[in-house]
Amino acid sequence: MMQWEPVIGLEVHVQLMTDSKLFSGAPIAYGAHANHQACPVSIALPGVLPVMNLEAARLAVRFGLAIGAKVEKRSVFERKNYFYPDLPKGYQISQYKHPVVSGGSLTIETGTGDRVIGITRAHLEEDAGKSVHENFHGMTGIDFNRAGTPLLEIVSEPDMRSAEEAVAYLKKLHALVRYFEVSDGNMQEGSFRCDANVSIRPKGNPELGTRTELKNINSFRFVEKAINFEIERQIDVLEDGGMIIQETRLYDSERDETRSMRSKEDAQDYRYFPDPDLPEMILDDEFIEEVRANLPELPNHRKSRYEQEFSLSPPVAEKLLRDRDTADFFERVCERSRSDPKTIANWINGELTALLNERNIEISDSPVDSDRFTALLDHMADKTLSGKMAKEVLMHLANDPSDVDAIIESKGFRQITDSSEIERVVGEVLDANAPQVRQYREGNQKVFGYLMGQVMKATDGKADPGQVNQILRNLLE
Ligand code: ADP
Ligand code: MG
Repeated sequence: MMQWEPVIGLEVHVQLMTDSKLFSGAPIAYGAHANHQACPVSIALPGVLPVMNLEAARLAVRFGLAIGAKVEKRSVFERKNYFYPDLPKGYQISQYKHPVVSGGSLTIETGTGDRVIGITRAHLEEDAGKSVHENFHGMTGIDFNRAGTPLLEIVSEPDMRSAEEAVAYLKKLHALVRYFEVSDGNMQEGSFRCDANVSIRPKGNPELGTRTELKNINSFRFVEKAINFEIERQIDVLEDGGMIIQETRLYDSERDETRSMRSKEDAQDYRYFPDPDLPEMILDDEFIEEVRANLPELPNHRKSRYEQEFSLSPPVAEKLLRDRDTADFFERVCERSRSDPKTIANWINGELTALLNERNIEISDSPVDSDRFTALLDHMADKTLSGKMAKEVLMHLANDPSDVDAIIESKGFRQITDSSEIERVVGEVLDANAPQVRQYREGNQKVFGYLMGQVMKATDGKADPGQVNQILRNLLE
């Protein structure tokens, strides 16, 4: 049986976080009425000229610096010519021979250790419009709002060897562009889109096999499924003595299969040539250094700092660093709180994240801001609240803007920490459960949990469990 090795390279289109289009001042807000953002430049009316958006250049440079790539001081916009109804100019402005970013890499963690995935290049280009089929009864509508939206296309080397590695790379890249505020990475809105190039070869063979390009995969889960389907399909074709045709295939998530869309164009089909309407993009040192000076602390640096300074485990640190706002939130709470950083990290990654996920919101929109969150954890640290109570208080905070003290008061959430009070209740419970007390004294340890439960029940769950445990043990001796 032949052993096959999959080879995968990814092309990711990331929508840049600018206010306006790549070559005009028209807005790019998501969800606007169809064609309300279709300015003369985006629909190519005669006589209009493109003007480069400086902020898009800044974000491209930011990305290049973030991945340790070479930022090219000279890059060139070219016309990529093809016909499609959503492309009124008849060409897309892109960068081809001279991209703004070249080289660089991302490191992914895999089951067998870290792997470095090379990034070939990243170039600026404009998005096309969108064909709309719903409500057009056998016809197609075109919405040009998206035409001209600034994209950064990030092309990887064919360095990945499994669908899992491809997903790990994508997740890393997704976190990175969000962390550096290059893109909001919103996949539902199409701000982070991926095409996967897949081939297979006999294991050990240095040459690459013929690849297919999979389009239309808009979630991490589908990327994995589409690639795995395609690997199996190619193995079947080759083992049946067939040949892989270089083509573009569409992933159908409902049927979980890929289908041929068109044979793949070659670069020469596009008749690239430098756009005569646009000057070369020349970036000087001062511009690049200014972008560098404004970079946030690099995620890897921040991660090792969390591990050393706060003794967090690598997965816990990694989770806090899934986006910058979460990491910033963590640091703000650490600065002010009396709780230890591990508890803070676990509460952010656990309870708070669960709350945000449930509402499908980001931490920047959290109903519990870092001040109230700090107060909550501090009330747990000073034992006003048990862990269980703190969880309940968090739920109240999520629906009520009052401060933590007010909620603790009004809902009666105070933990009982007065030892004489606890002793009194423990005494009552022991009197009422004489048979169990006897069993315990005869050596049946299991009854302890039962007695503990009775005390908690008698105090409405409000007694400090640590103290109850201690006092109960003392009185049972
Ligand atoms: P194009 O511009 O036609 O899409 P590129 O040469 O720029 O082609 O490659 C696009 C992507 O395909 C890159 O991510 C590259 O790593 C990947 N790739 C190229 N050859 C192969 C191959 N044989 N198998 C898998 N991926 C490949
Ligand atoms: Mg391509």
